[in-house]
Amino acid sequence: MMQQVPDISFLSDEEKLWFAKAIAGMVVADGRVDSAEVEFVKVAIGFSRREDVATIMSIIKQNQIPPLGVSKIESKASFTMLKFLAEIMVVDHKLSESEVLFFNQVGKLLGFTSTILERLWKTARQELEKNLPRGVVDVEGGGRYKITLLNMTGKHFSFRLNKAVTPNCRIILHVGKSNGSLWDPVQCRMAKQHAEKIEAETYLISATYEQPIAEIHGIPQILDPEKYAPKEDTVLHPRLNSLHGHYVKCFVCGTEKIPFYRLRSRSMVTKPNIFGVVTYLKSAGNLDFCNFNLLDVKVCPGCGFASKDYGYFHANFNDRPPFDVERFKQGWGQKIQSKLQELQLQQESCLSDNRPIDMAILANRMGVTSMTKLVEISDDPETRNVLLREVASIHMVQAQFYMEQNLRDKAESELRSAQKIANEIFERLIGVPSLHAALLLFRIAIYFKELKDAGQIMRFTDNYNKDGQLSKGSDEYKAYIVTKNTIKNTYDDRELIDREKMSSFFLE
Ligand SMILES: [Zn+2]
Repeated sequence: MMQQVPDISFLSDEEKLWFAKAIAGMVVADGRVDSAEVEFVKVAIGFSRREDVATIMSIIKQNQIPPLGVSKIESKASFTMLKFLAEIMVVDHKLSESEVLFFNQVGKLLGFTSTILERLWKTARQELEKNLPRGVVDVEGGGRYKITLLNMTGKHFSFRLNKAVTPNCRIILHVGKSNGSLWDPVQCRMAKQHAEKIEAETYLISATYEQPIAEIHGIPQILDPEKYAPKEDTVLHPRLNSLHGHYVKCFVCGTEKIPFYRLRSRSMVTKPNIFGVVTYLKSAGNLDFCNFNLLDVKVCPGCGFASKDYGYFHANFNDRPPFDVERFKQGWGQKIQSKLQELQLQQESCLSDNRPIDMAILANRMGVTSMTKLVEISDDPETRNVLLREVASIHMVQAQFYMEQNLRDKAESELRSAQKIANEIFERLIGVPSLHAALLLFRIAIYFKELKDAGQIMRFTDNYNKDGQLSKGSDEYKAYIVTKNTIKNTYDDRELIDREKMSSFFLE
């Protein structure tokens, strides 16, 4: 739906014509006019003088971008106009190179810098692409990259990359699942490559599949989402309208109808504590407030299996358990028994979207026990690292809970548990996860005034990109910069952190 039409009543007739031509130009910029764009043409005609309507219609009919001179419209109005043009750019759910080129041209005539223009069209593009499927590609001789799947058919797909690839090279595609893990790899081959005119060092690459695609690759699910959508009776209808989700089934014991809540994106105002743990302050808009930390760990009331991760529950008919269920069951009953009994006493409140904090603390303890058991039975070092990081993150949320309850000793013992795990895996991690672990260890060390440990981590981050080997714009480079800056700021604030005096994990 169209946003607000900018108020241009104070413009001169010449300026109105300029804007109307810019609108018409934007509509034809991608070489075609679709029905949603026609609405914008009507707006342009609506504010034009009768004698100018013909000019506008001829731009549309000839499908040709009109010549425009420099505009002298004052900057506040021109910014609203520019945003209106940005909206036309994406109304057909596509953003072509020619549209961006025209947008940049108009923006410059309105007096905007290329930095502002780039920010505007990139925001528009981000909005357009935010729901597209993601994945990872391994490029022959060129590393591994996270990508957005821009255009996917039964034969090929395309993606953007900030480097060129070798023509005809092999590409292995792993489509991402909603829980962050990956579907099975698909062998592909690079088919086409186009250097984008609108973005330096950016290439639009398309590749064709070299093997038959199937559900294990996650591709049919993208091509025919309706067929694979969860059935209506699995959809949750939470009391809080800020939540949504599905019922899932337990892989371990087969218990059904376990609610798996999710928080609607950007619905809450959040604030990280001094360790970077996200806490929820208030609703960001009209949706009900939810302290989602309380609901993050989902628990099976049948066997006590608990995890934050959607992938560890059975959600779709063709899901396979990501771990060896028989091995998991060995000794599990005894291990979880006392916690499970505690849970079963208050099962309903623990499964509701109104989970009280004592139940959330129990769910976290069960999450730690479950994930630790998965670590024990996993033979894959990579999987063990991922699981251990999840355990550490549960300990960090638990520490925040205990602190909210004024139980400092318990909170600190959770910090120690997280610290122990992070220390244990730190050496084994590489790339972004190693930076995240470094930051966590640093924050905990500063809190406990263990400055020797903190110093070691500072040296690690200082030396991280010593030879400048990270390519700017890569995820790792961004994580490196954020980590380095956060560590510096935390170090500068170290005097403010006095654990004896603090009554919460926030700097006042
Ligand atoms: Zn179960």
